[in-house]
Amino acid sequence: MSDAFWLLDHLSNQQLLDSLGQVLRRQRRSLAELVAHLAEVEERRLHLEAAHCSLFDYCVRQLHMSEDEACRRIELARLTRRFPALFPLLASGDITLSAALVLKPVLTSDNHAELLEAARRKSIRETREMVAARFPSPDVPSTIRKLPEPNTVRASAPAPHSTPVAPLFAAPTPATAPCTTPRTDPPASSAPTDPPGAVAPPSVAPPSAHRIEPIATERYKLQLTIDASLKRQLETARDLLRHANPSGDFAPILSRALDLLVAELLRHRFGVGARRKANRDRKLTPANTPASASPPSTPATHIAHATRRAVLERDGLACTWVDASGNRCSSRAWLELDHRQPHGKGGGSDAENIRLLCRAHNQLAAEQAYGRAHIERAKATRRPFRRNTPSGRTAATDGHAVFSRAGGEHVGDSS
Ligand SMILES: [Zn+2]
Repeated sequence: MSDAFWLLDHLSNQQLLDSLGQVLRRQRRSLAELVAHLAEVEERRLHLEAAHCSLFDYCVRQLHMSEDEACRRIELARLTRRFPALFPLLASGDITLSAALVLKPVLTSDNHAELLEAARRKSIRETREMVAARFPSPDVPSTIRKLPEPNTVRASAPAPHSTPVAPLFAAPTPATAPCTTPRTDPPASSAPTDPPGAVAPPSVAPPSAHRIEPIATERYKLQLTIDASLKRQLETARDLLRHANPSGDFAPILSRALDLLVAELLRHRFGVGARRKANRDRKLTPANTPASASPPSTPATHIAHATRRAVLERDGLACTWVDASGNRCSSRAWLELDHRQPHGKGGGSDAENIRLLCRAHNQLAAEQAYGRAHIERAKATRRPFRRNTPSGRTAATDGHAVFSRAGGEHVGDSS
């Protein structure tokens, strides 16, 4: 077998997926073995004999791990020493490194068997939810706090060989290594994530900028960074709502604001609650022509509000892509309306031919209908319109662009 392991062109799709599964199984087994070795090295104090003041220092300077990698693996090694039952779960992938570290603060000799069993095959978010439900924290107060200026943060950069200190790092562990406990996973927020597939969505805010963390059953802590303008809006809304919300808590304000926003978005995108306009549903709207997959000579169609509502009711607010095994994508982000039978190939705009897809699957459908090269060319011609502004929004602002400008609901659609 060639050493150029990254050359995979010769594999069939099924062989590629099988190979990926094998790599993942090896990687999980290797992780379990790695932490077992780290635990044993620390137990024997071999890092001290090797002239490193801590296992962390040994991992970073001797083994050339990154600081974060070293922290997480050492933390896991110590956890597995306390709870060896973790080893087979890590090796099988039933519990990931990140999930194990989410469980760490609540594991005891009495509960670990039951908790580890309950955490099998759970995602990080599900593990956090489970921990929050079983070990609830009190509600946090609504606050607005001024953040330090960016250059202030930079000035506190860590010294060489010291543990990096960042907002995502919590208190140091009471251990010999100068290792702090990092946050154990990407934020468990509702932040948009890359949809499945090879198609990248427009830029989103940095994941650390906003997060939603479960703190108890049906209770969450929301944290985000806002600008001065939004702060003024929040405070104005709070003042105007004082009669109904004497405490000034921001949660009811957000709730009422989001009620209005969601209603507006449902009206705009699906015609829910929209007043009927004469002939609107029968009109063609060339301005909404998807600049993407349609052959140039193909006229665009307008999808009637009634059709959109029917599709929404039938599909739910989620992607309807189903794979060969019957698994549904169910992404709720980047949703677009798609013609099952492309409009350019004679497909109509009735509810039977319209479905909800996330952007990644919509573009995959377009690629399957018209070929990847055609879609890539179409995307390239569309890109100037979709470029991101410094604020991270699309040029046509606020995400409405995705739906209304670029085809109303046909972005990447092959119709
Ligand atoms: Zn999807």
